Amino acid sequence: MWWKIILILLAVFILVTLIRAAFYKPKKIKHYEIDKIRIDENKVAEHLSQAIRFKTISMAGDVGVDWNEFEKFHAFLDETYPLIAKNTVKEKISHASLMYRWKGSNPDLEPIALIAHQDVVPVAEGTEKDWTHDAFGGEIADGMVWGRGALDMKNHLICVMEAAESLMEQGFQPERDVYLCFGHNEEIVSTEHSGAQNIVKTFKSRGIRLDSVLDEGSALIRLDVPGLIHTYIAAIGMAEKGFVNMKITAHDKGGHTSAAPVHSGMAKLAHMVQDLESHQFKARWLPFLDELFDGVGRRATYLGRIVTCNIPILKPVIKFAMKSIYEAATMVRTVTSVSMCEGSPAPNVLPQRPSITVNFRMLPGDTSDDVEKHVRKHIRYKDVEIEKYDVKEASEFSKTGSRAFEAIREIESSLHPDDVAVVPYMVMGGTDAYYYQDISDNVLRYAPFNVPISLFKLTHGTNERCPIDTLGESVTFFREYIKKVSAEN
Ligand SMILES: [Zn+2]
Repeated sequence: MWWKIILILLAVFILVTLIRAAFYKPKKIKHYEIDKIRIDENKVAEHLSQAIRFKTISMAGDVGVDWNEFEKFHAFLDETYPLIAKNTVKEKISHASLMYRWKGSNPDLEPIALIAHQDVVPVAEGTEKDWTHDAFGGEIADGMVWGRGALDMKNHLICVMEAAESLMEQGFQPERDVYLCFGHNEEIVSTEHSGAQNIVKTFKSRGIRLDSVLDEGSALIRLDVPGLIHTYIAAIGMAEKGFVNMKITAHDKGGHTSAAPVHSGMAKLAHMVQDLESHQFKARWLPFLDELFDGVGRRATYLGRIVTCNIPILKPVIKFAMKSIYEAATMVRTVTSVSMCEGSPAPNVLPQRPSITVNFRMLPGDTSDDVEKHVRKHIRYKDVEIEKYDVKEASEFSKTGSRAFEAIREIESSLHPDDVAVVPYMVMGGTDAYYYQDISDNVLRYAPFNVPISLFKLTHGTNERCPIDTLGESVTFFREYIKKVSAEN
């Protein structure tokens, strides 16, 4: 008898799911006709190519930084964007960061900011020859602009400048002040002389809070799973994970290896690595994942929606699956990564102070103190030294629904009608945007470049390059963004 009840319940569930899937569709977003002035992509590409030729490489501790390259880059910006040079007040902050103020018509409104970084990472030694085109040549070939910074993020900086210059050409006047803030050392993790941090200090000292901030961090991604889903995903970074390095040093007797015990100090380290790896942080489902899965799920085909309309009840299964795939696990937990190990100074010396260094990437909600407690609780040796360094706590979450977020939703939905899910996301790395949370509740991380994932993976690597045909749309995006978000409402 009981199996009949189960069968009936199952049949009802399937029927309800089939009906729900039919109605589980994207929410209606206001489309509008974008003012598509003709943007000369080749000219933008030429400007990006020139920008890449300046070796604005940031280095830890500023050792070996060629400040002259930054100076030349600044002069290039002044020359290339004469209306910006004329209509804004430009200040140099720290060594080489730039802050432009484009004055709005209503001084009572909170300003907006678009940020980018001028610096790039160096080319790894010994890999210079692997490049198809010189890393700092800015060559244009095969429909691409090649070189370091083509994707991270001189493309973004140049497109923001093109957008502002072309709006000025048309006589556009913002209501709110528009700030363009370009740091000079984003690529150096945890620098004490962060240009972005000093820009934020400048805002603070003037008592300025920002309505919203837009930086790099997340992207426009194409998702095609045959028969299940075909859509763009505009993933807006609403927060970023934190990080902390922890050096754990064990104590051992040391001595000559000719009279070594079965376990040297290194064995203690091995045990600790085992302890850390077998006690991962608890996975947590953060609220942004609801909106992310819902927004993307609604864009699936009917077949796909039969599954995605049930995401609320499938959450535990999804969380379990994400936990098991390490690339996805980073979205639901603080990640532990043992990355360095040090023994004795010579092969015939037993280690006295062997150490491991662990890099943790904290999920918002876990602090570096929580990480230390977790480590102390789970490693079997209690007589170890733990030294924390390069601490950056996870950021706050900005809220969806802000004017800036909704502006991106409308713009992308108008650029890709019925073909994009605009959803919140969490950035795994660090950005300059982090510092701005002190002066704004709406810190968004999004680059509108329509670039395949295979190219994104070249960021910081060999043959970094940006397709020319994504530049026009990106300039249009920033033009629309500035127009919408700088308005009072
Ligand atoms: Zn970057």
